[in-house]
Amino acid sequence: MRLPSCWDARLRSLNEERRAGDEERRAGGTSDLPSIVLPMSLSFPLTATDTPSTPEKIAAVHAAPGFGVHFTDHMAVATWRQGSGWGEDAVVPYGPFQLDPSTAVLHYAQEVFEGLKAYRHDDGSIWLFRPKRNAERLRASARRLMLPELPVDDFLTSIEQLVTVDAAWVPDAQGGEASLYLRPFMFANESFLGVRAAQQVTYCVIASPVGPYFAGGVQPVNIWVTDQYSRAGKGGTGAAKCGGNYASSLIAQYEGAEHGCSQVLFADAGTGVNTEELGGMNIMVVTAGGELITPELTGTILEGVTRDSILTIASELGLNPVARAITVAEIFDRIDSGDIVEAFACGTAAVLTPVAEFRSHHGAHVIGAEPGERTLQIRAAILDVQYGRAADRHGWLRRVL
Ligand SMILES: *Cc1c(COP(=O)(O)O)cnc(C)c1O
Repeated sequence: MRLPSCWDARLRSLNEERRAGDEERRAGGTSDLPSIVLPMSLSFPLTATDTPSTPEKIAAVHAAPGFGVHFTDHMAVATWRQGSGWGEDAVVPYGPFQLDPSTAVLHYAQEVFEGLKAYRHDDGSIWLFRPKRNAERLRASARRLMLPELPVDDFLTSIEQLVTVDAAWVPDAQGGEASLYLRPFMFANESFLGVRAAQQVTYCVIASPVGPYFAGGVQPVNIWVTDQYSRAGKGGTGAAKCGGNYASSLIAQYEGAEHGCSQVLFADAGTGVNTEELGGMNIMVVTAGGELITPELTGTILEGVTRDSILTIASELGLNPVARAITVAEIFDRIDSGDIVEAFACGTAAVLTPVAEFRSHHGAHVIGAEPGERTLQIRAAILDVQYGRAADRHGWLRRVL
């Protein structure tokens, strides 16, 4: 459903008013409230837990972290209220929210999130990888979902405060791939069933130690190419990192599982012809001639930090990076003719996941059961920067501790 254009304008001006209001308040209060001077930026002061985890408990989690099952002792929180903007920022003991059953997010899914990691280098120092990108993307996602924008510096402070407080939870690299996964998110936290942008919003960051994504070495996966479901349509939320996109992709994930596939590739919703991306990762292919091709950003694809990083370093690895429209048929045909020699999915969690084969209702297009040489080379290059084993030539790392 498309809103009438007068609504577009109204929504835009609402968002602008809101942003202007936030900025004015941050600059020292509005004219009608001259006595209220709010701090320029959030500091996320610590209220420490009374029951910190013992080193033994943390070591046990690090020994078998899983993915997203264990969380650190604290979380960062902040609240945005219409009229007063961002505040109530703190790092507090990790724990449940109490939500009224009418809380807006539970009904209308006004929610956005991010995903990034903190890496421990061999000298014990702790680093983030391109966190400003995540901060900017969270702002862009929030704009699309009519949520308030958290300033980049406040995002960075929330992350750095939490990582500092829970630094003991950042694992050693353990052969190169263990890290602390950080999950910032923001949701409509207002008890109201009306359909409009929430006037109270909660921002939160939680952290979870994660081990190597591929515990037994990098394993290529099969990818189901669905022709029944789409992930995102023109004018929709495809370029925003919002929970709703994931909810709508689950059914295709299950369709893929029935065909022996662990991931699903979506084509564009309009024509069903062009390759877009997976439910939570971008897709790239490597040709025999050394081209690294990935679908160009169309407004329906999520712009991955990993995608951008790979495109940036590709030429340093002797590959020719190309972002352009690429049809599913072209990928299938060129795999069958031996001209596309590798394919992989990319995202923060697994960095690069090699593709063994693409499957669809019309048959399978097999690349191979072993990870490709280029795929492993790119994967190692990204990991080496993240873990400080290679020079950070693009200024991608930001030190926390
Ligand atoms: C998060 C995400 C990605 C990958 O982004 P990274 O910044 O590389 O982690 C790709 N596609 C979708 C749909 C995503 O949600």
